[in-house]
Amino acid sequence: MKAALVGSGGELLHRARRATGRERGPDAVVAGILDFAAELRAYGADRFGEPARAAGVAVPGIIDEEHGTAVYAANLGWRDVPLRSLLGERLGAVPVALGHDVRAGGLAEGRIGAGRGADRFLFVPLGTGIAGAIGIDGRVESGAHGFAGEIGHVVVRPGGLPCPCGQYGCLERFASASAVSQAWADASGDPAADAADCAKAVESGDARALAVWRDAVDALADGLVTALTLLDPRVLIIGGGLAEAGETLFTPLRDAVRRRVTFQKLPQIVPAALGDTAGCLGAGLLAWDLLGTGPTGTTPTTATPPEVTT
Ligand SMILES: [Zn+2]
Repeated sequence: MKAALVGSGGELLHRARRATGRERGPDAVVAGILDFAAELRAYGADRFGEPARAAGVAVPGIIDEEHGTAVYAANLGWRDVPLRSLLGERLGAVPVALGHDVRAGGLAEGRIGAGRGADRFLFVPLGTGIAGAIGIDGRVESGAHGFAGEIGHVVVRPGGLPCPCGQYGCLERFASASAVSQAWADASGDPAADAADCAKAVESGDARALAVWRDAVDALADGLVTALTLLDPRVLIIGGGLAEAGETLFTPLRDAVRRRVTFQKLPQIVPAALGDTAGCLGAGLLAWDLLGTGPTGTTPTTATPPEVTT
């Protein structure tokens, strides 16, 4: 869990992290979040002379943002956890926002990170899987059922590799950091080789690595072109472990997208700027939004930080 006290301009005033404790079960994770948030609030009151005025929390899984409920999170064992009201009770009736981790990260990237000021953006982190956040006029679209942006499960290779979602040929089976790690481990014969090793081998001109990399970039470009055909974003923000390859990824990716578009307008394709603090900052922005202040174009009245737990 990453947490922070976030100032009115989206600045990080204090950061902390601790283990989720998920080996102790779903309820222990909830208790851990509540404790962490309460401790941060106390720290903020002590350090800044005034407690946080709002809190934001961003979690994985299926989130009902309207009702403040974590509907389902397989990796945490959660079903219908009313996180927003639990946190509000624990923190003494401060307003609390509940968000989805990737959408919160996208909100931060779009508002104060790589997409700063973009009216339409798409944030795509390439990590263990591939997710997405669709930014529209300063907010992130969650969809009717909380599933919007799941570009990792767009089928780019029909009949291809099976995906845990039940479909075959999903984008994340070809272009996530995990997929590239697996492909490079197979191709190089080194079971410990990962996506970062593959990028290094690409940079040194290794033909097998180039083939693995090209397959991933082609699949990614196919998925992204589907997304930009539907959404027409101004900026495409690519993050996650695979984006750490820098221009080794971005140069061929921009070329591959450019080759595929016909009538569509090419968006700017840029690396994410906030790294693993994006989700945490996004939770802070959700909290500031509850107060109607913060980095949204309106003028904050004080610098009192809300607290944030992800
Ligand atoms: Zn899938």
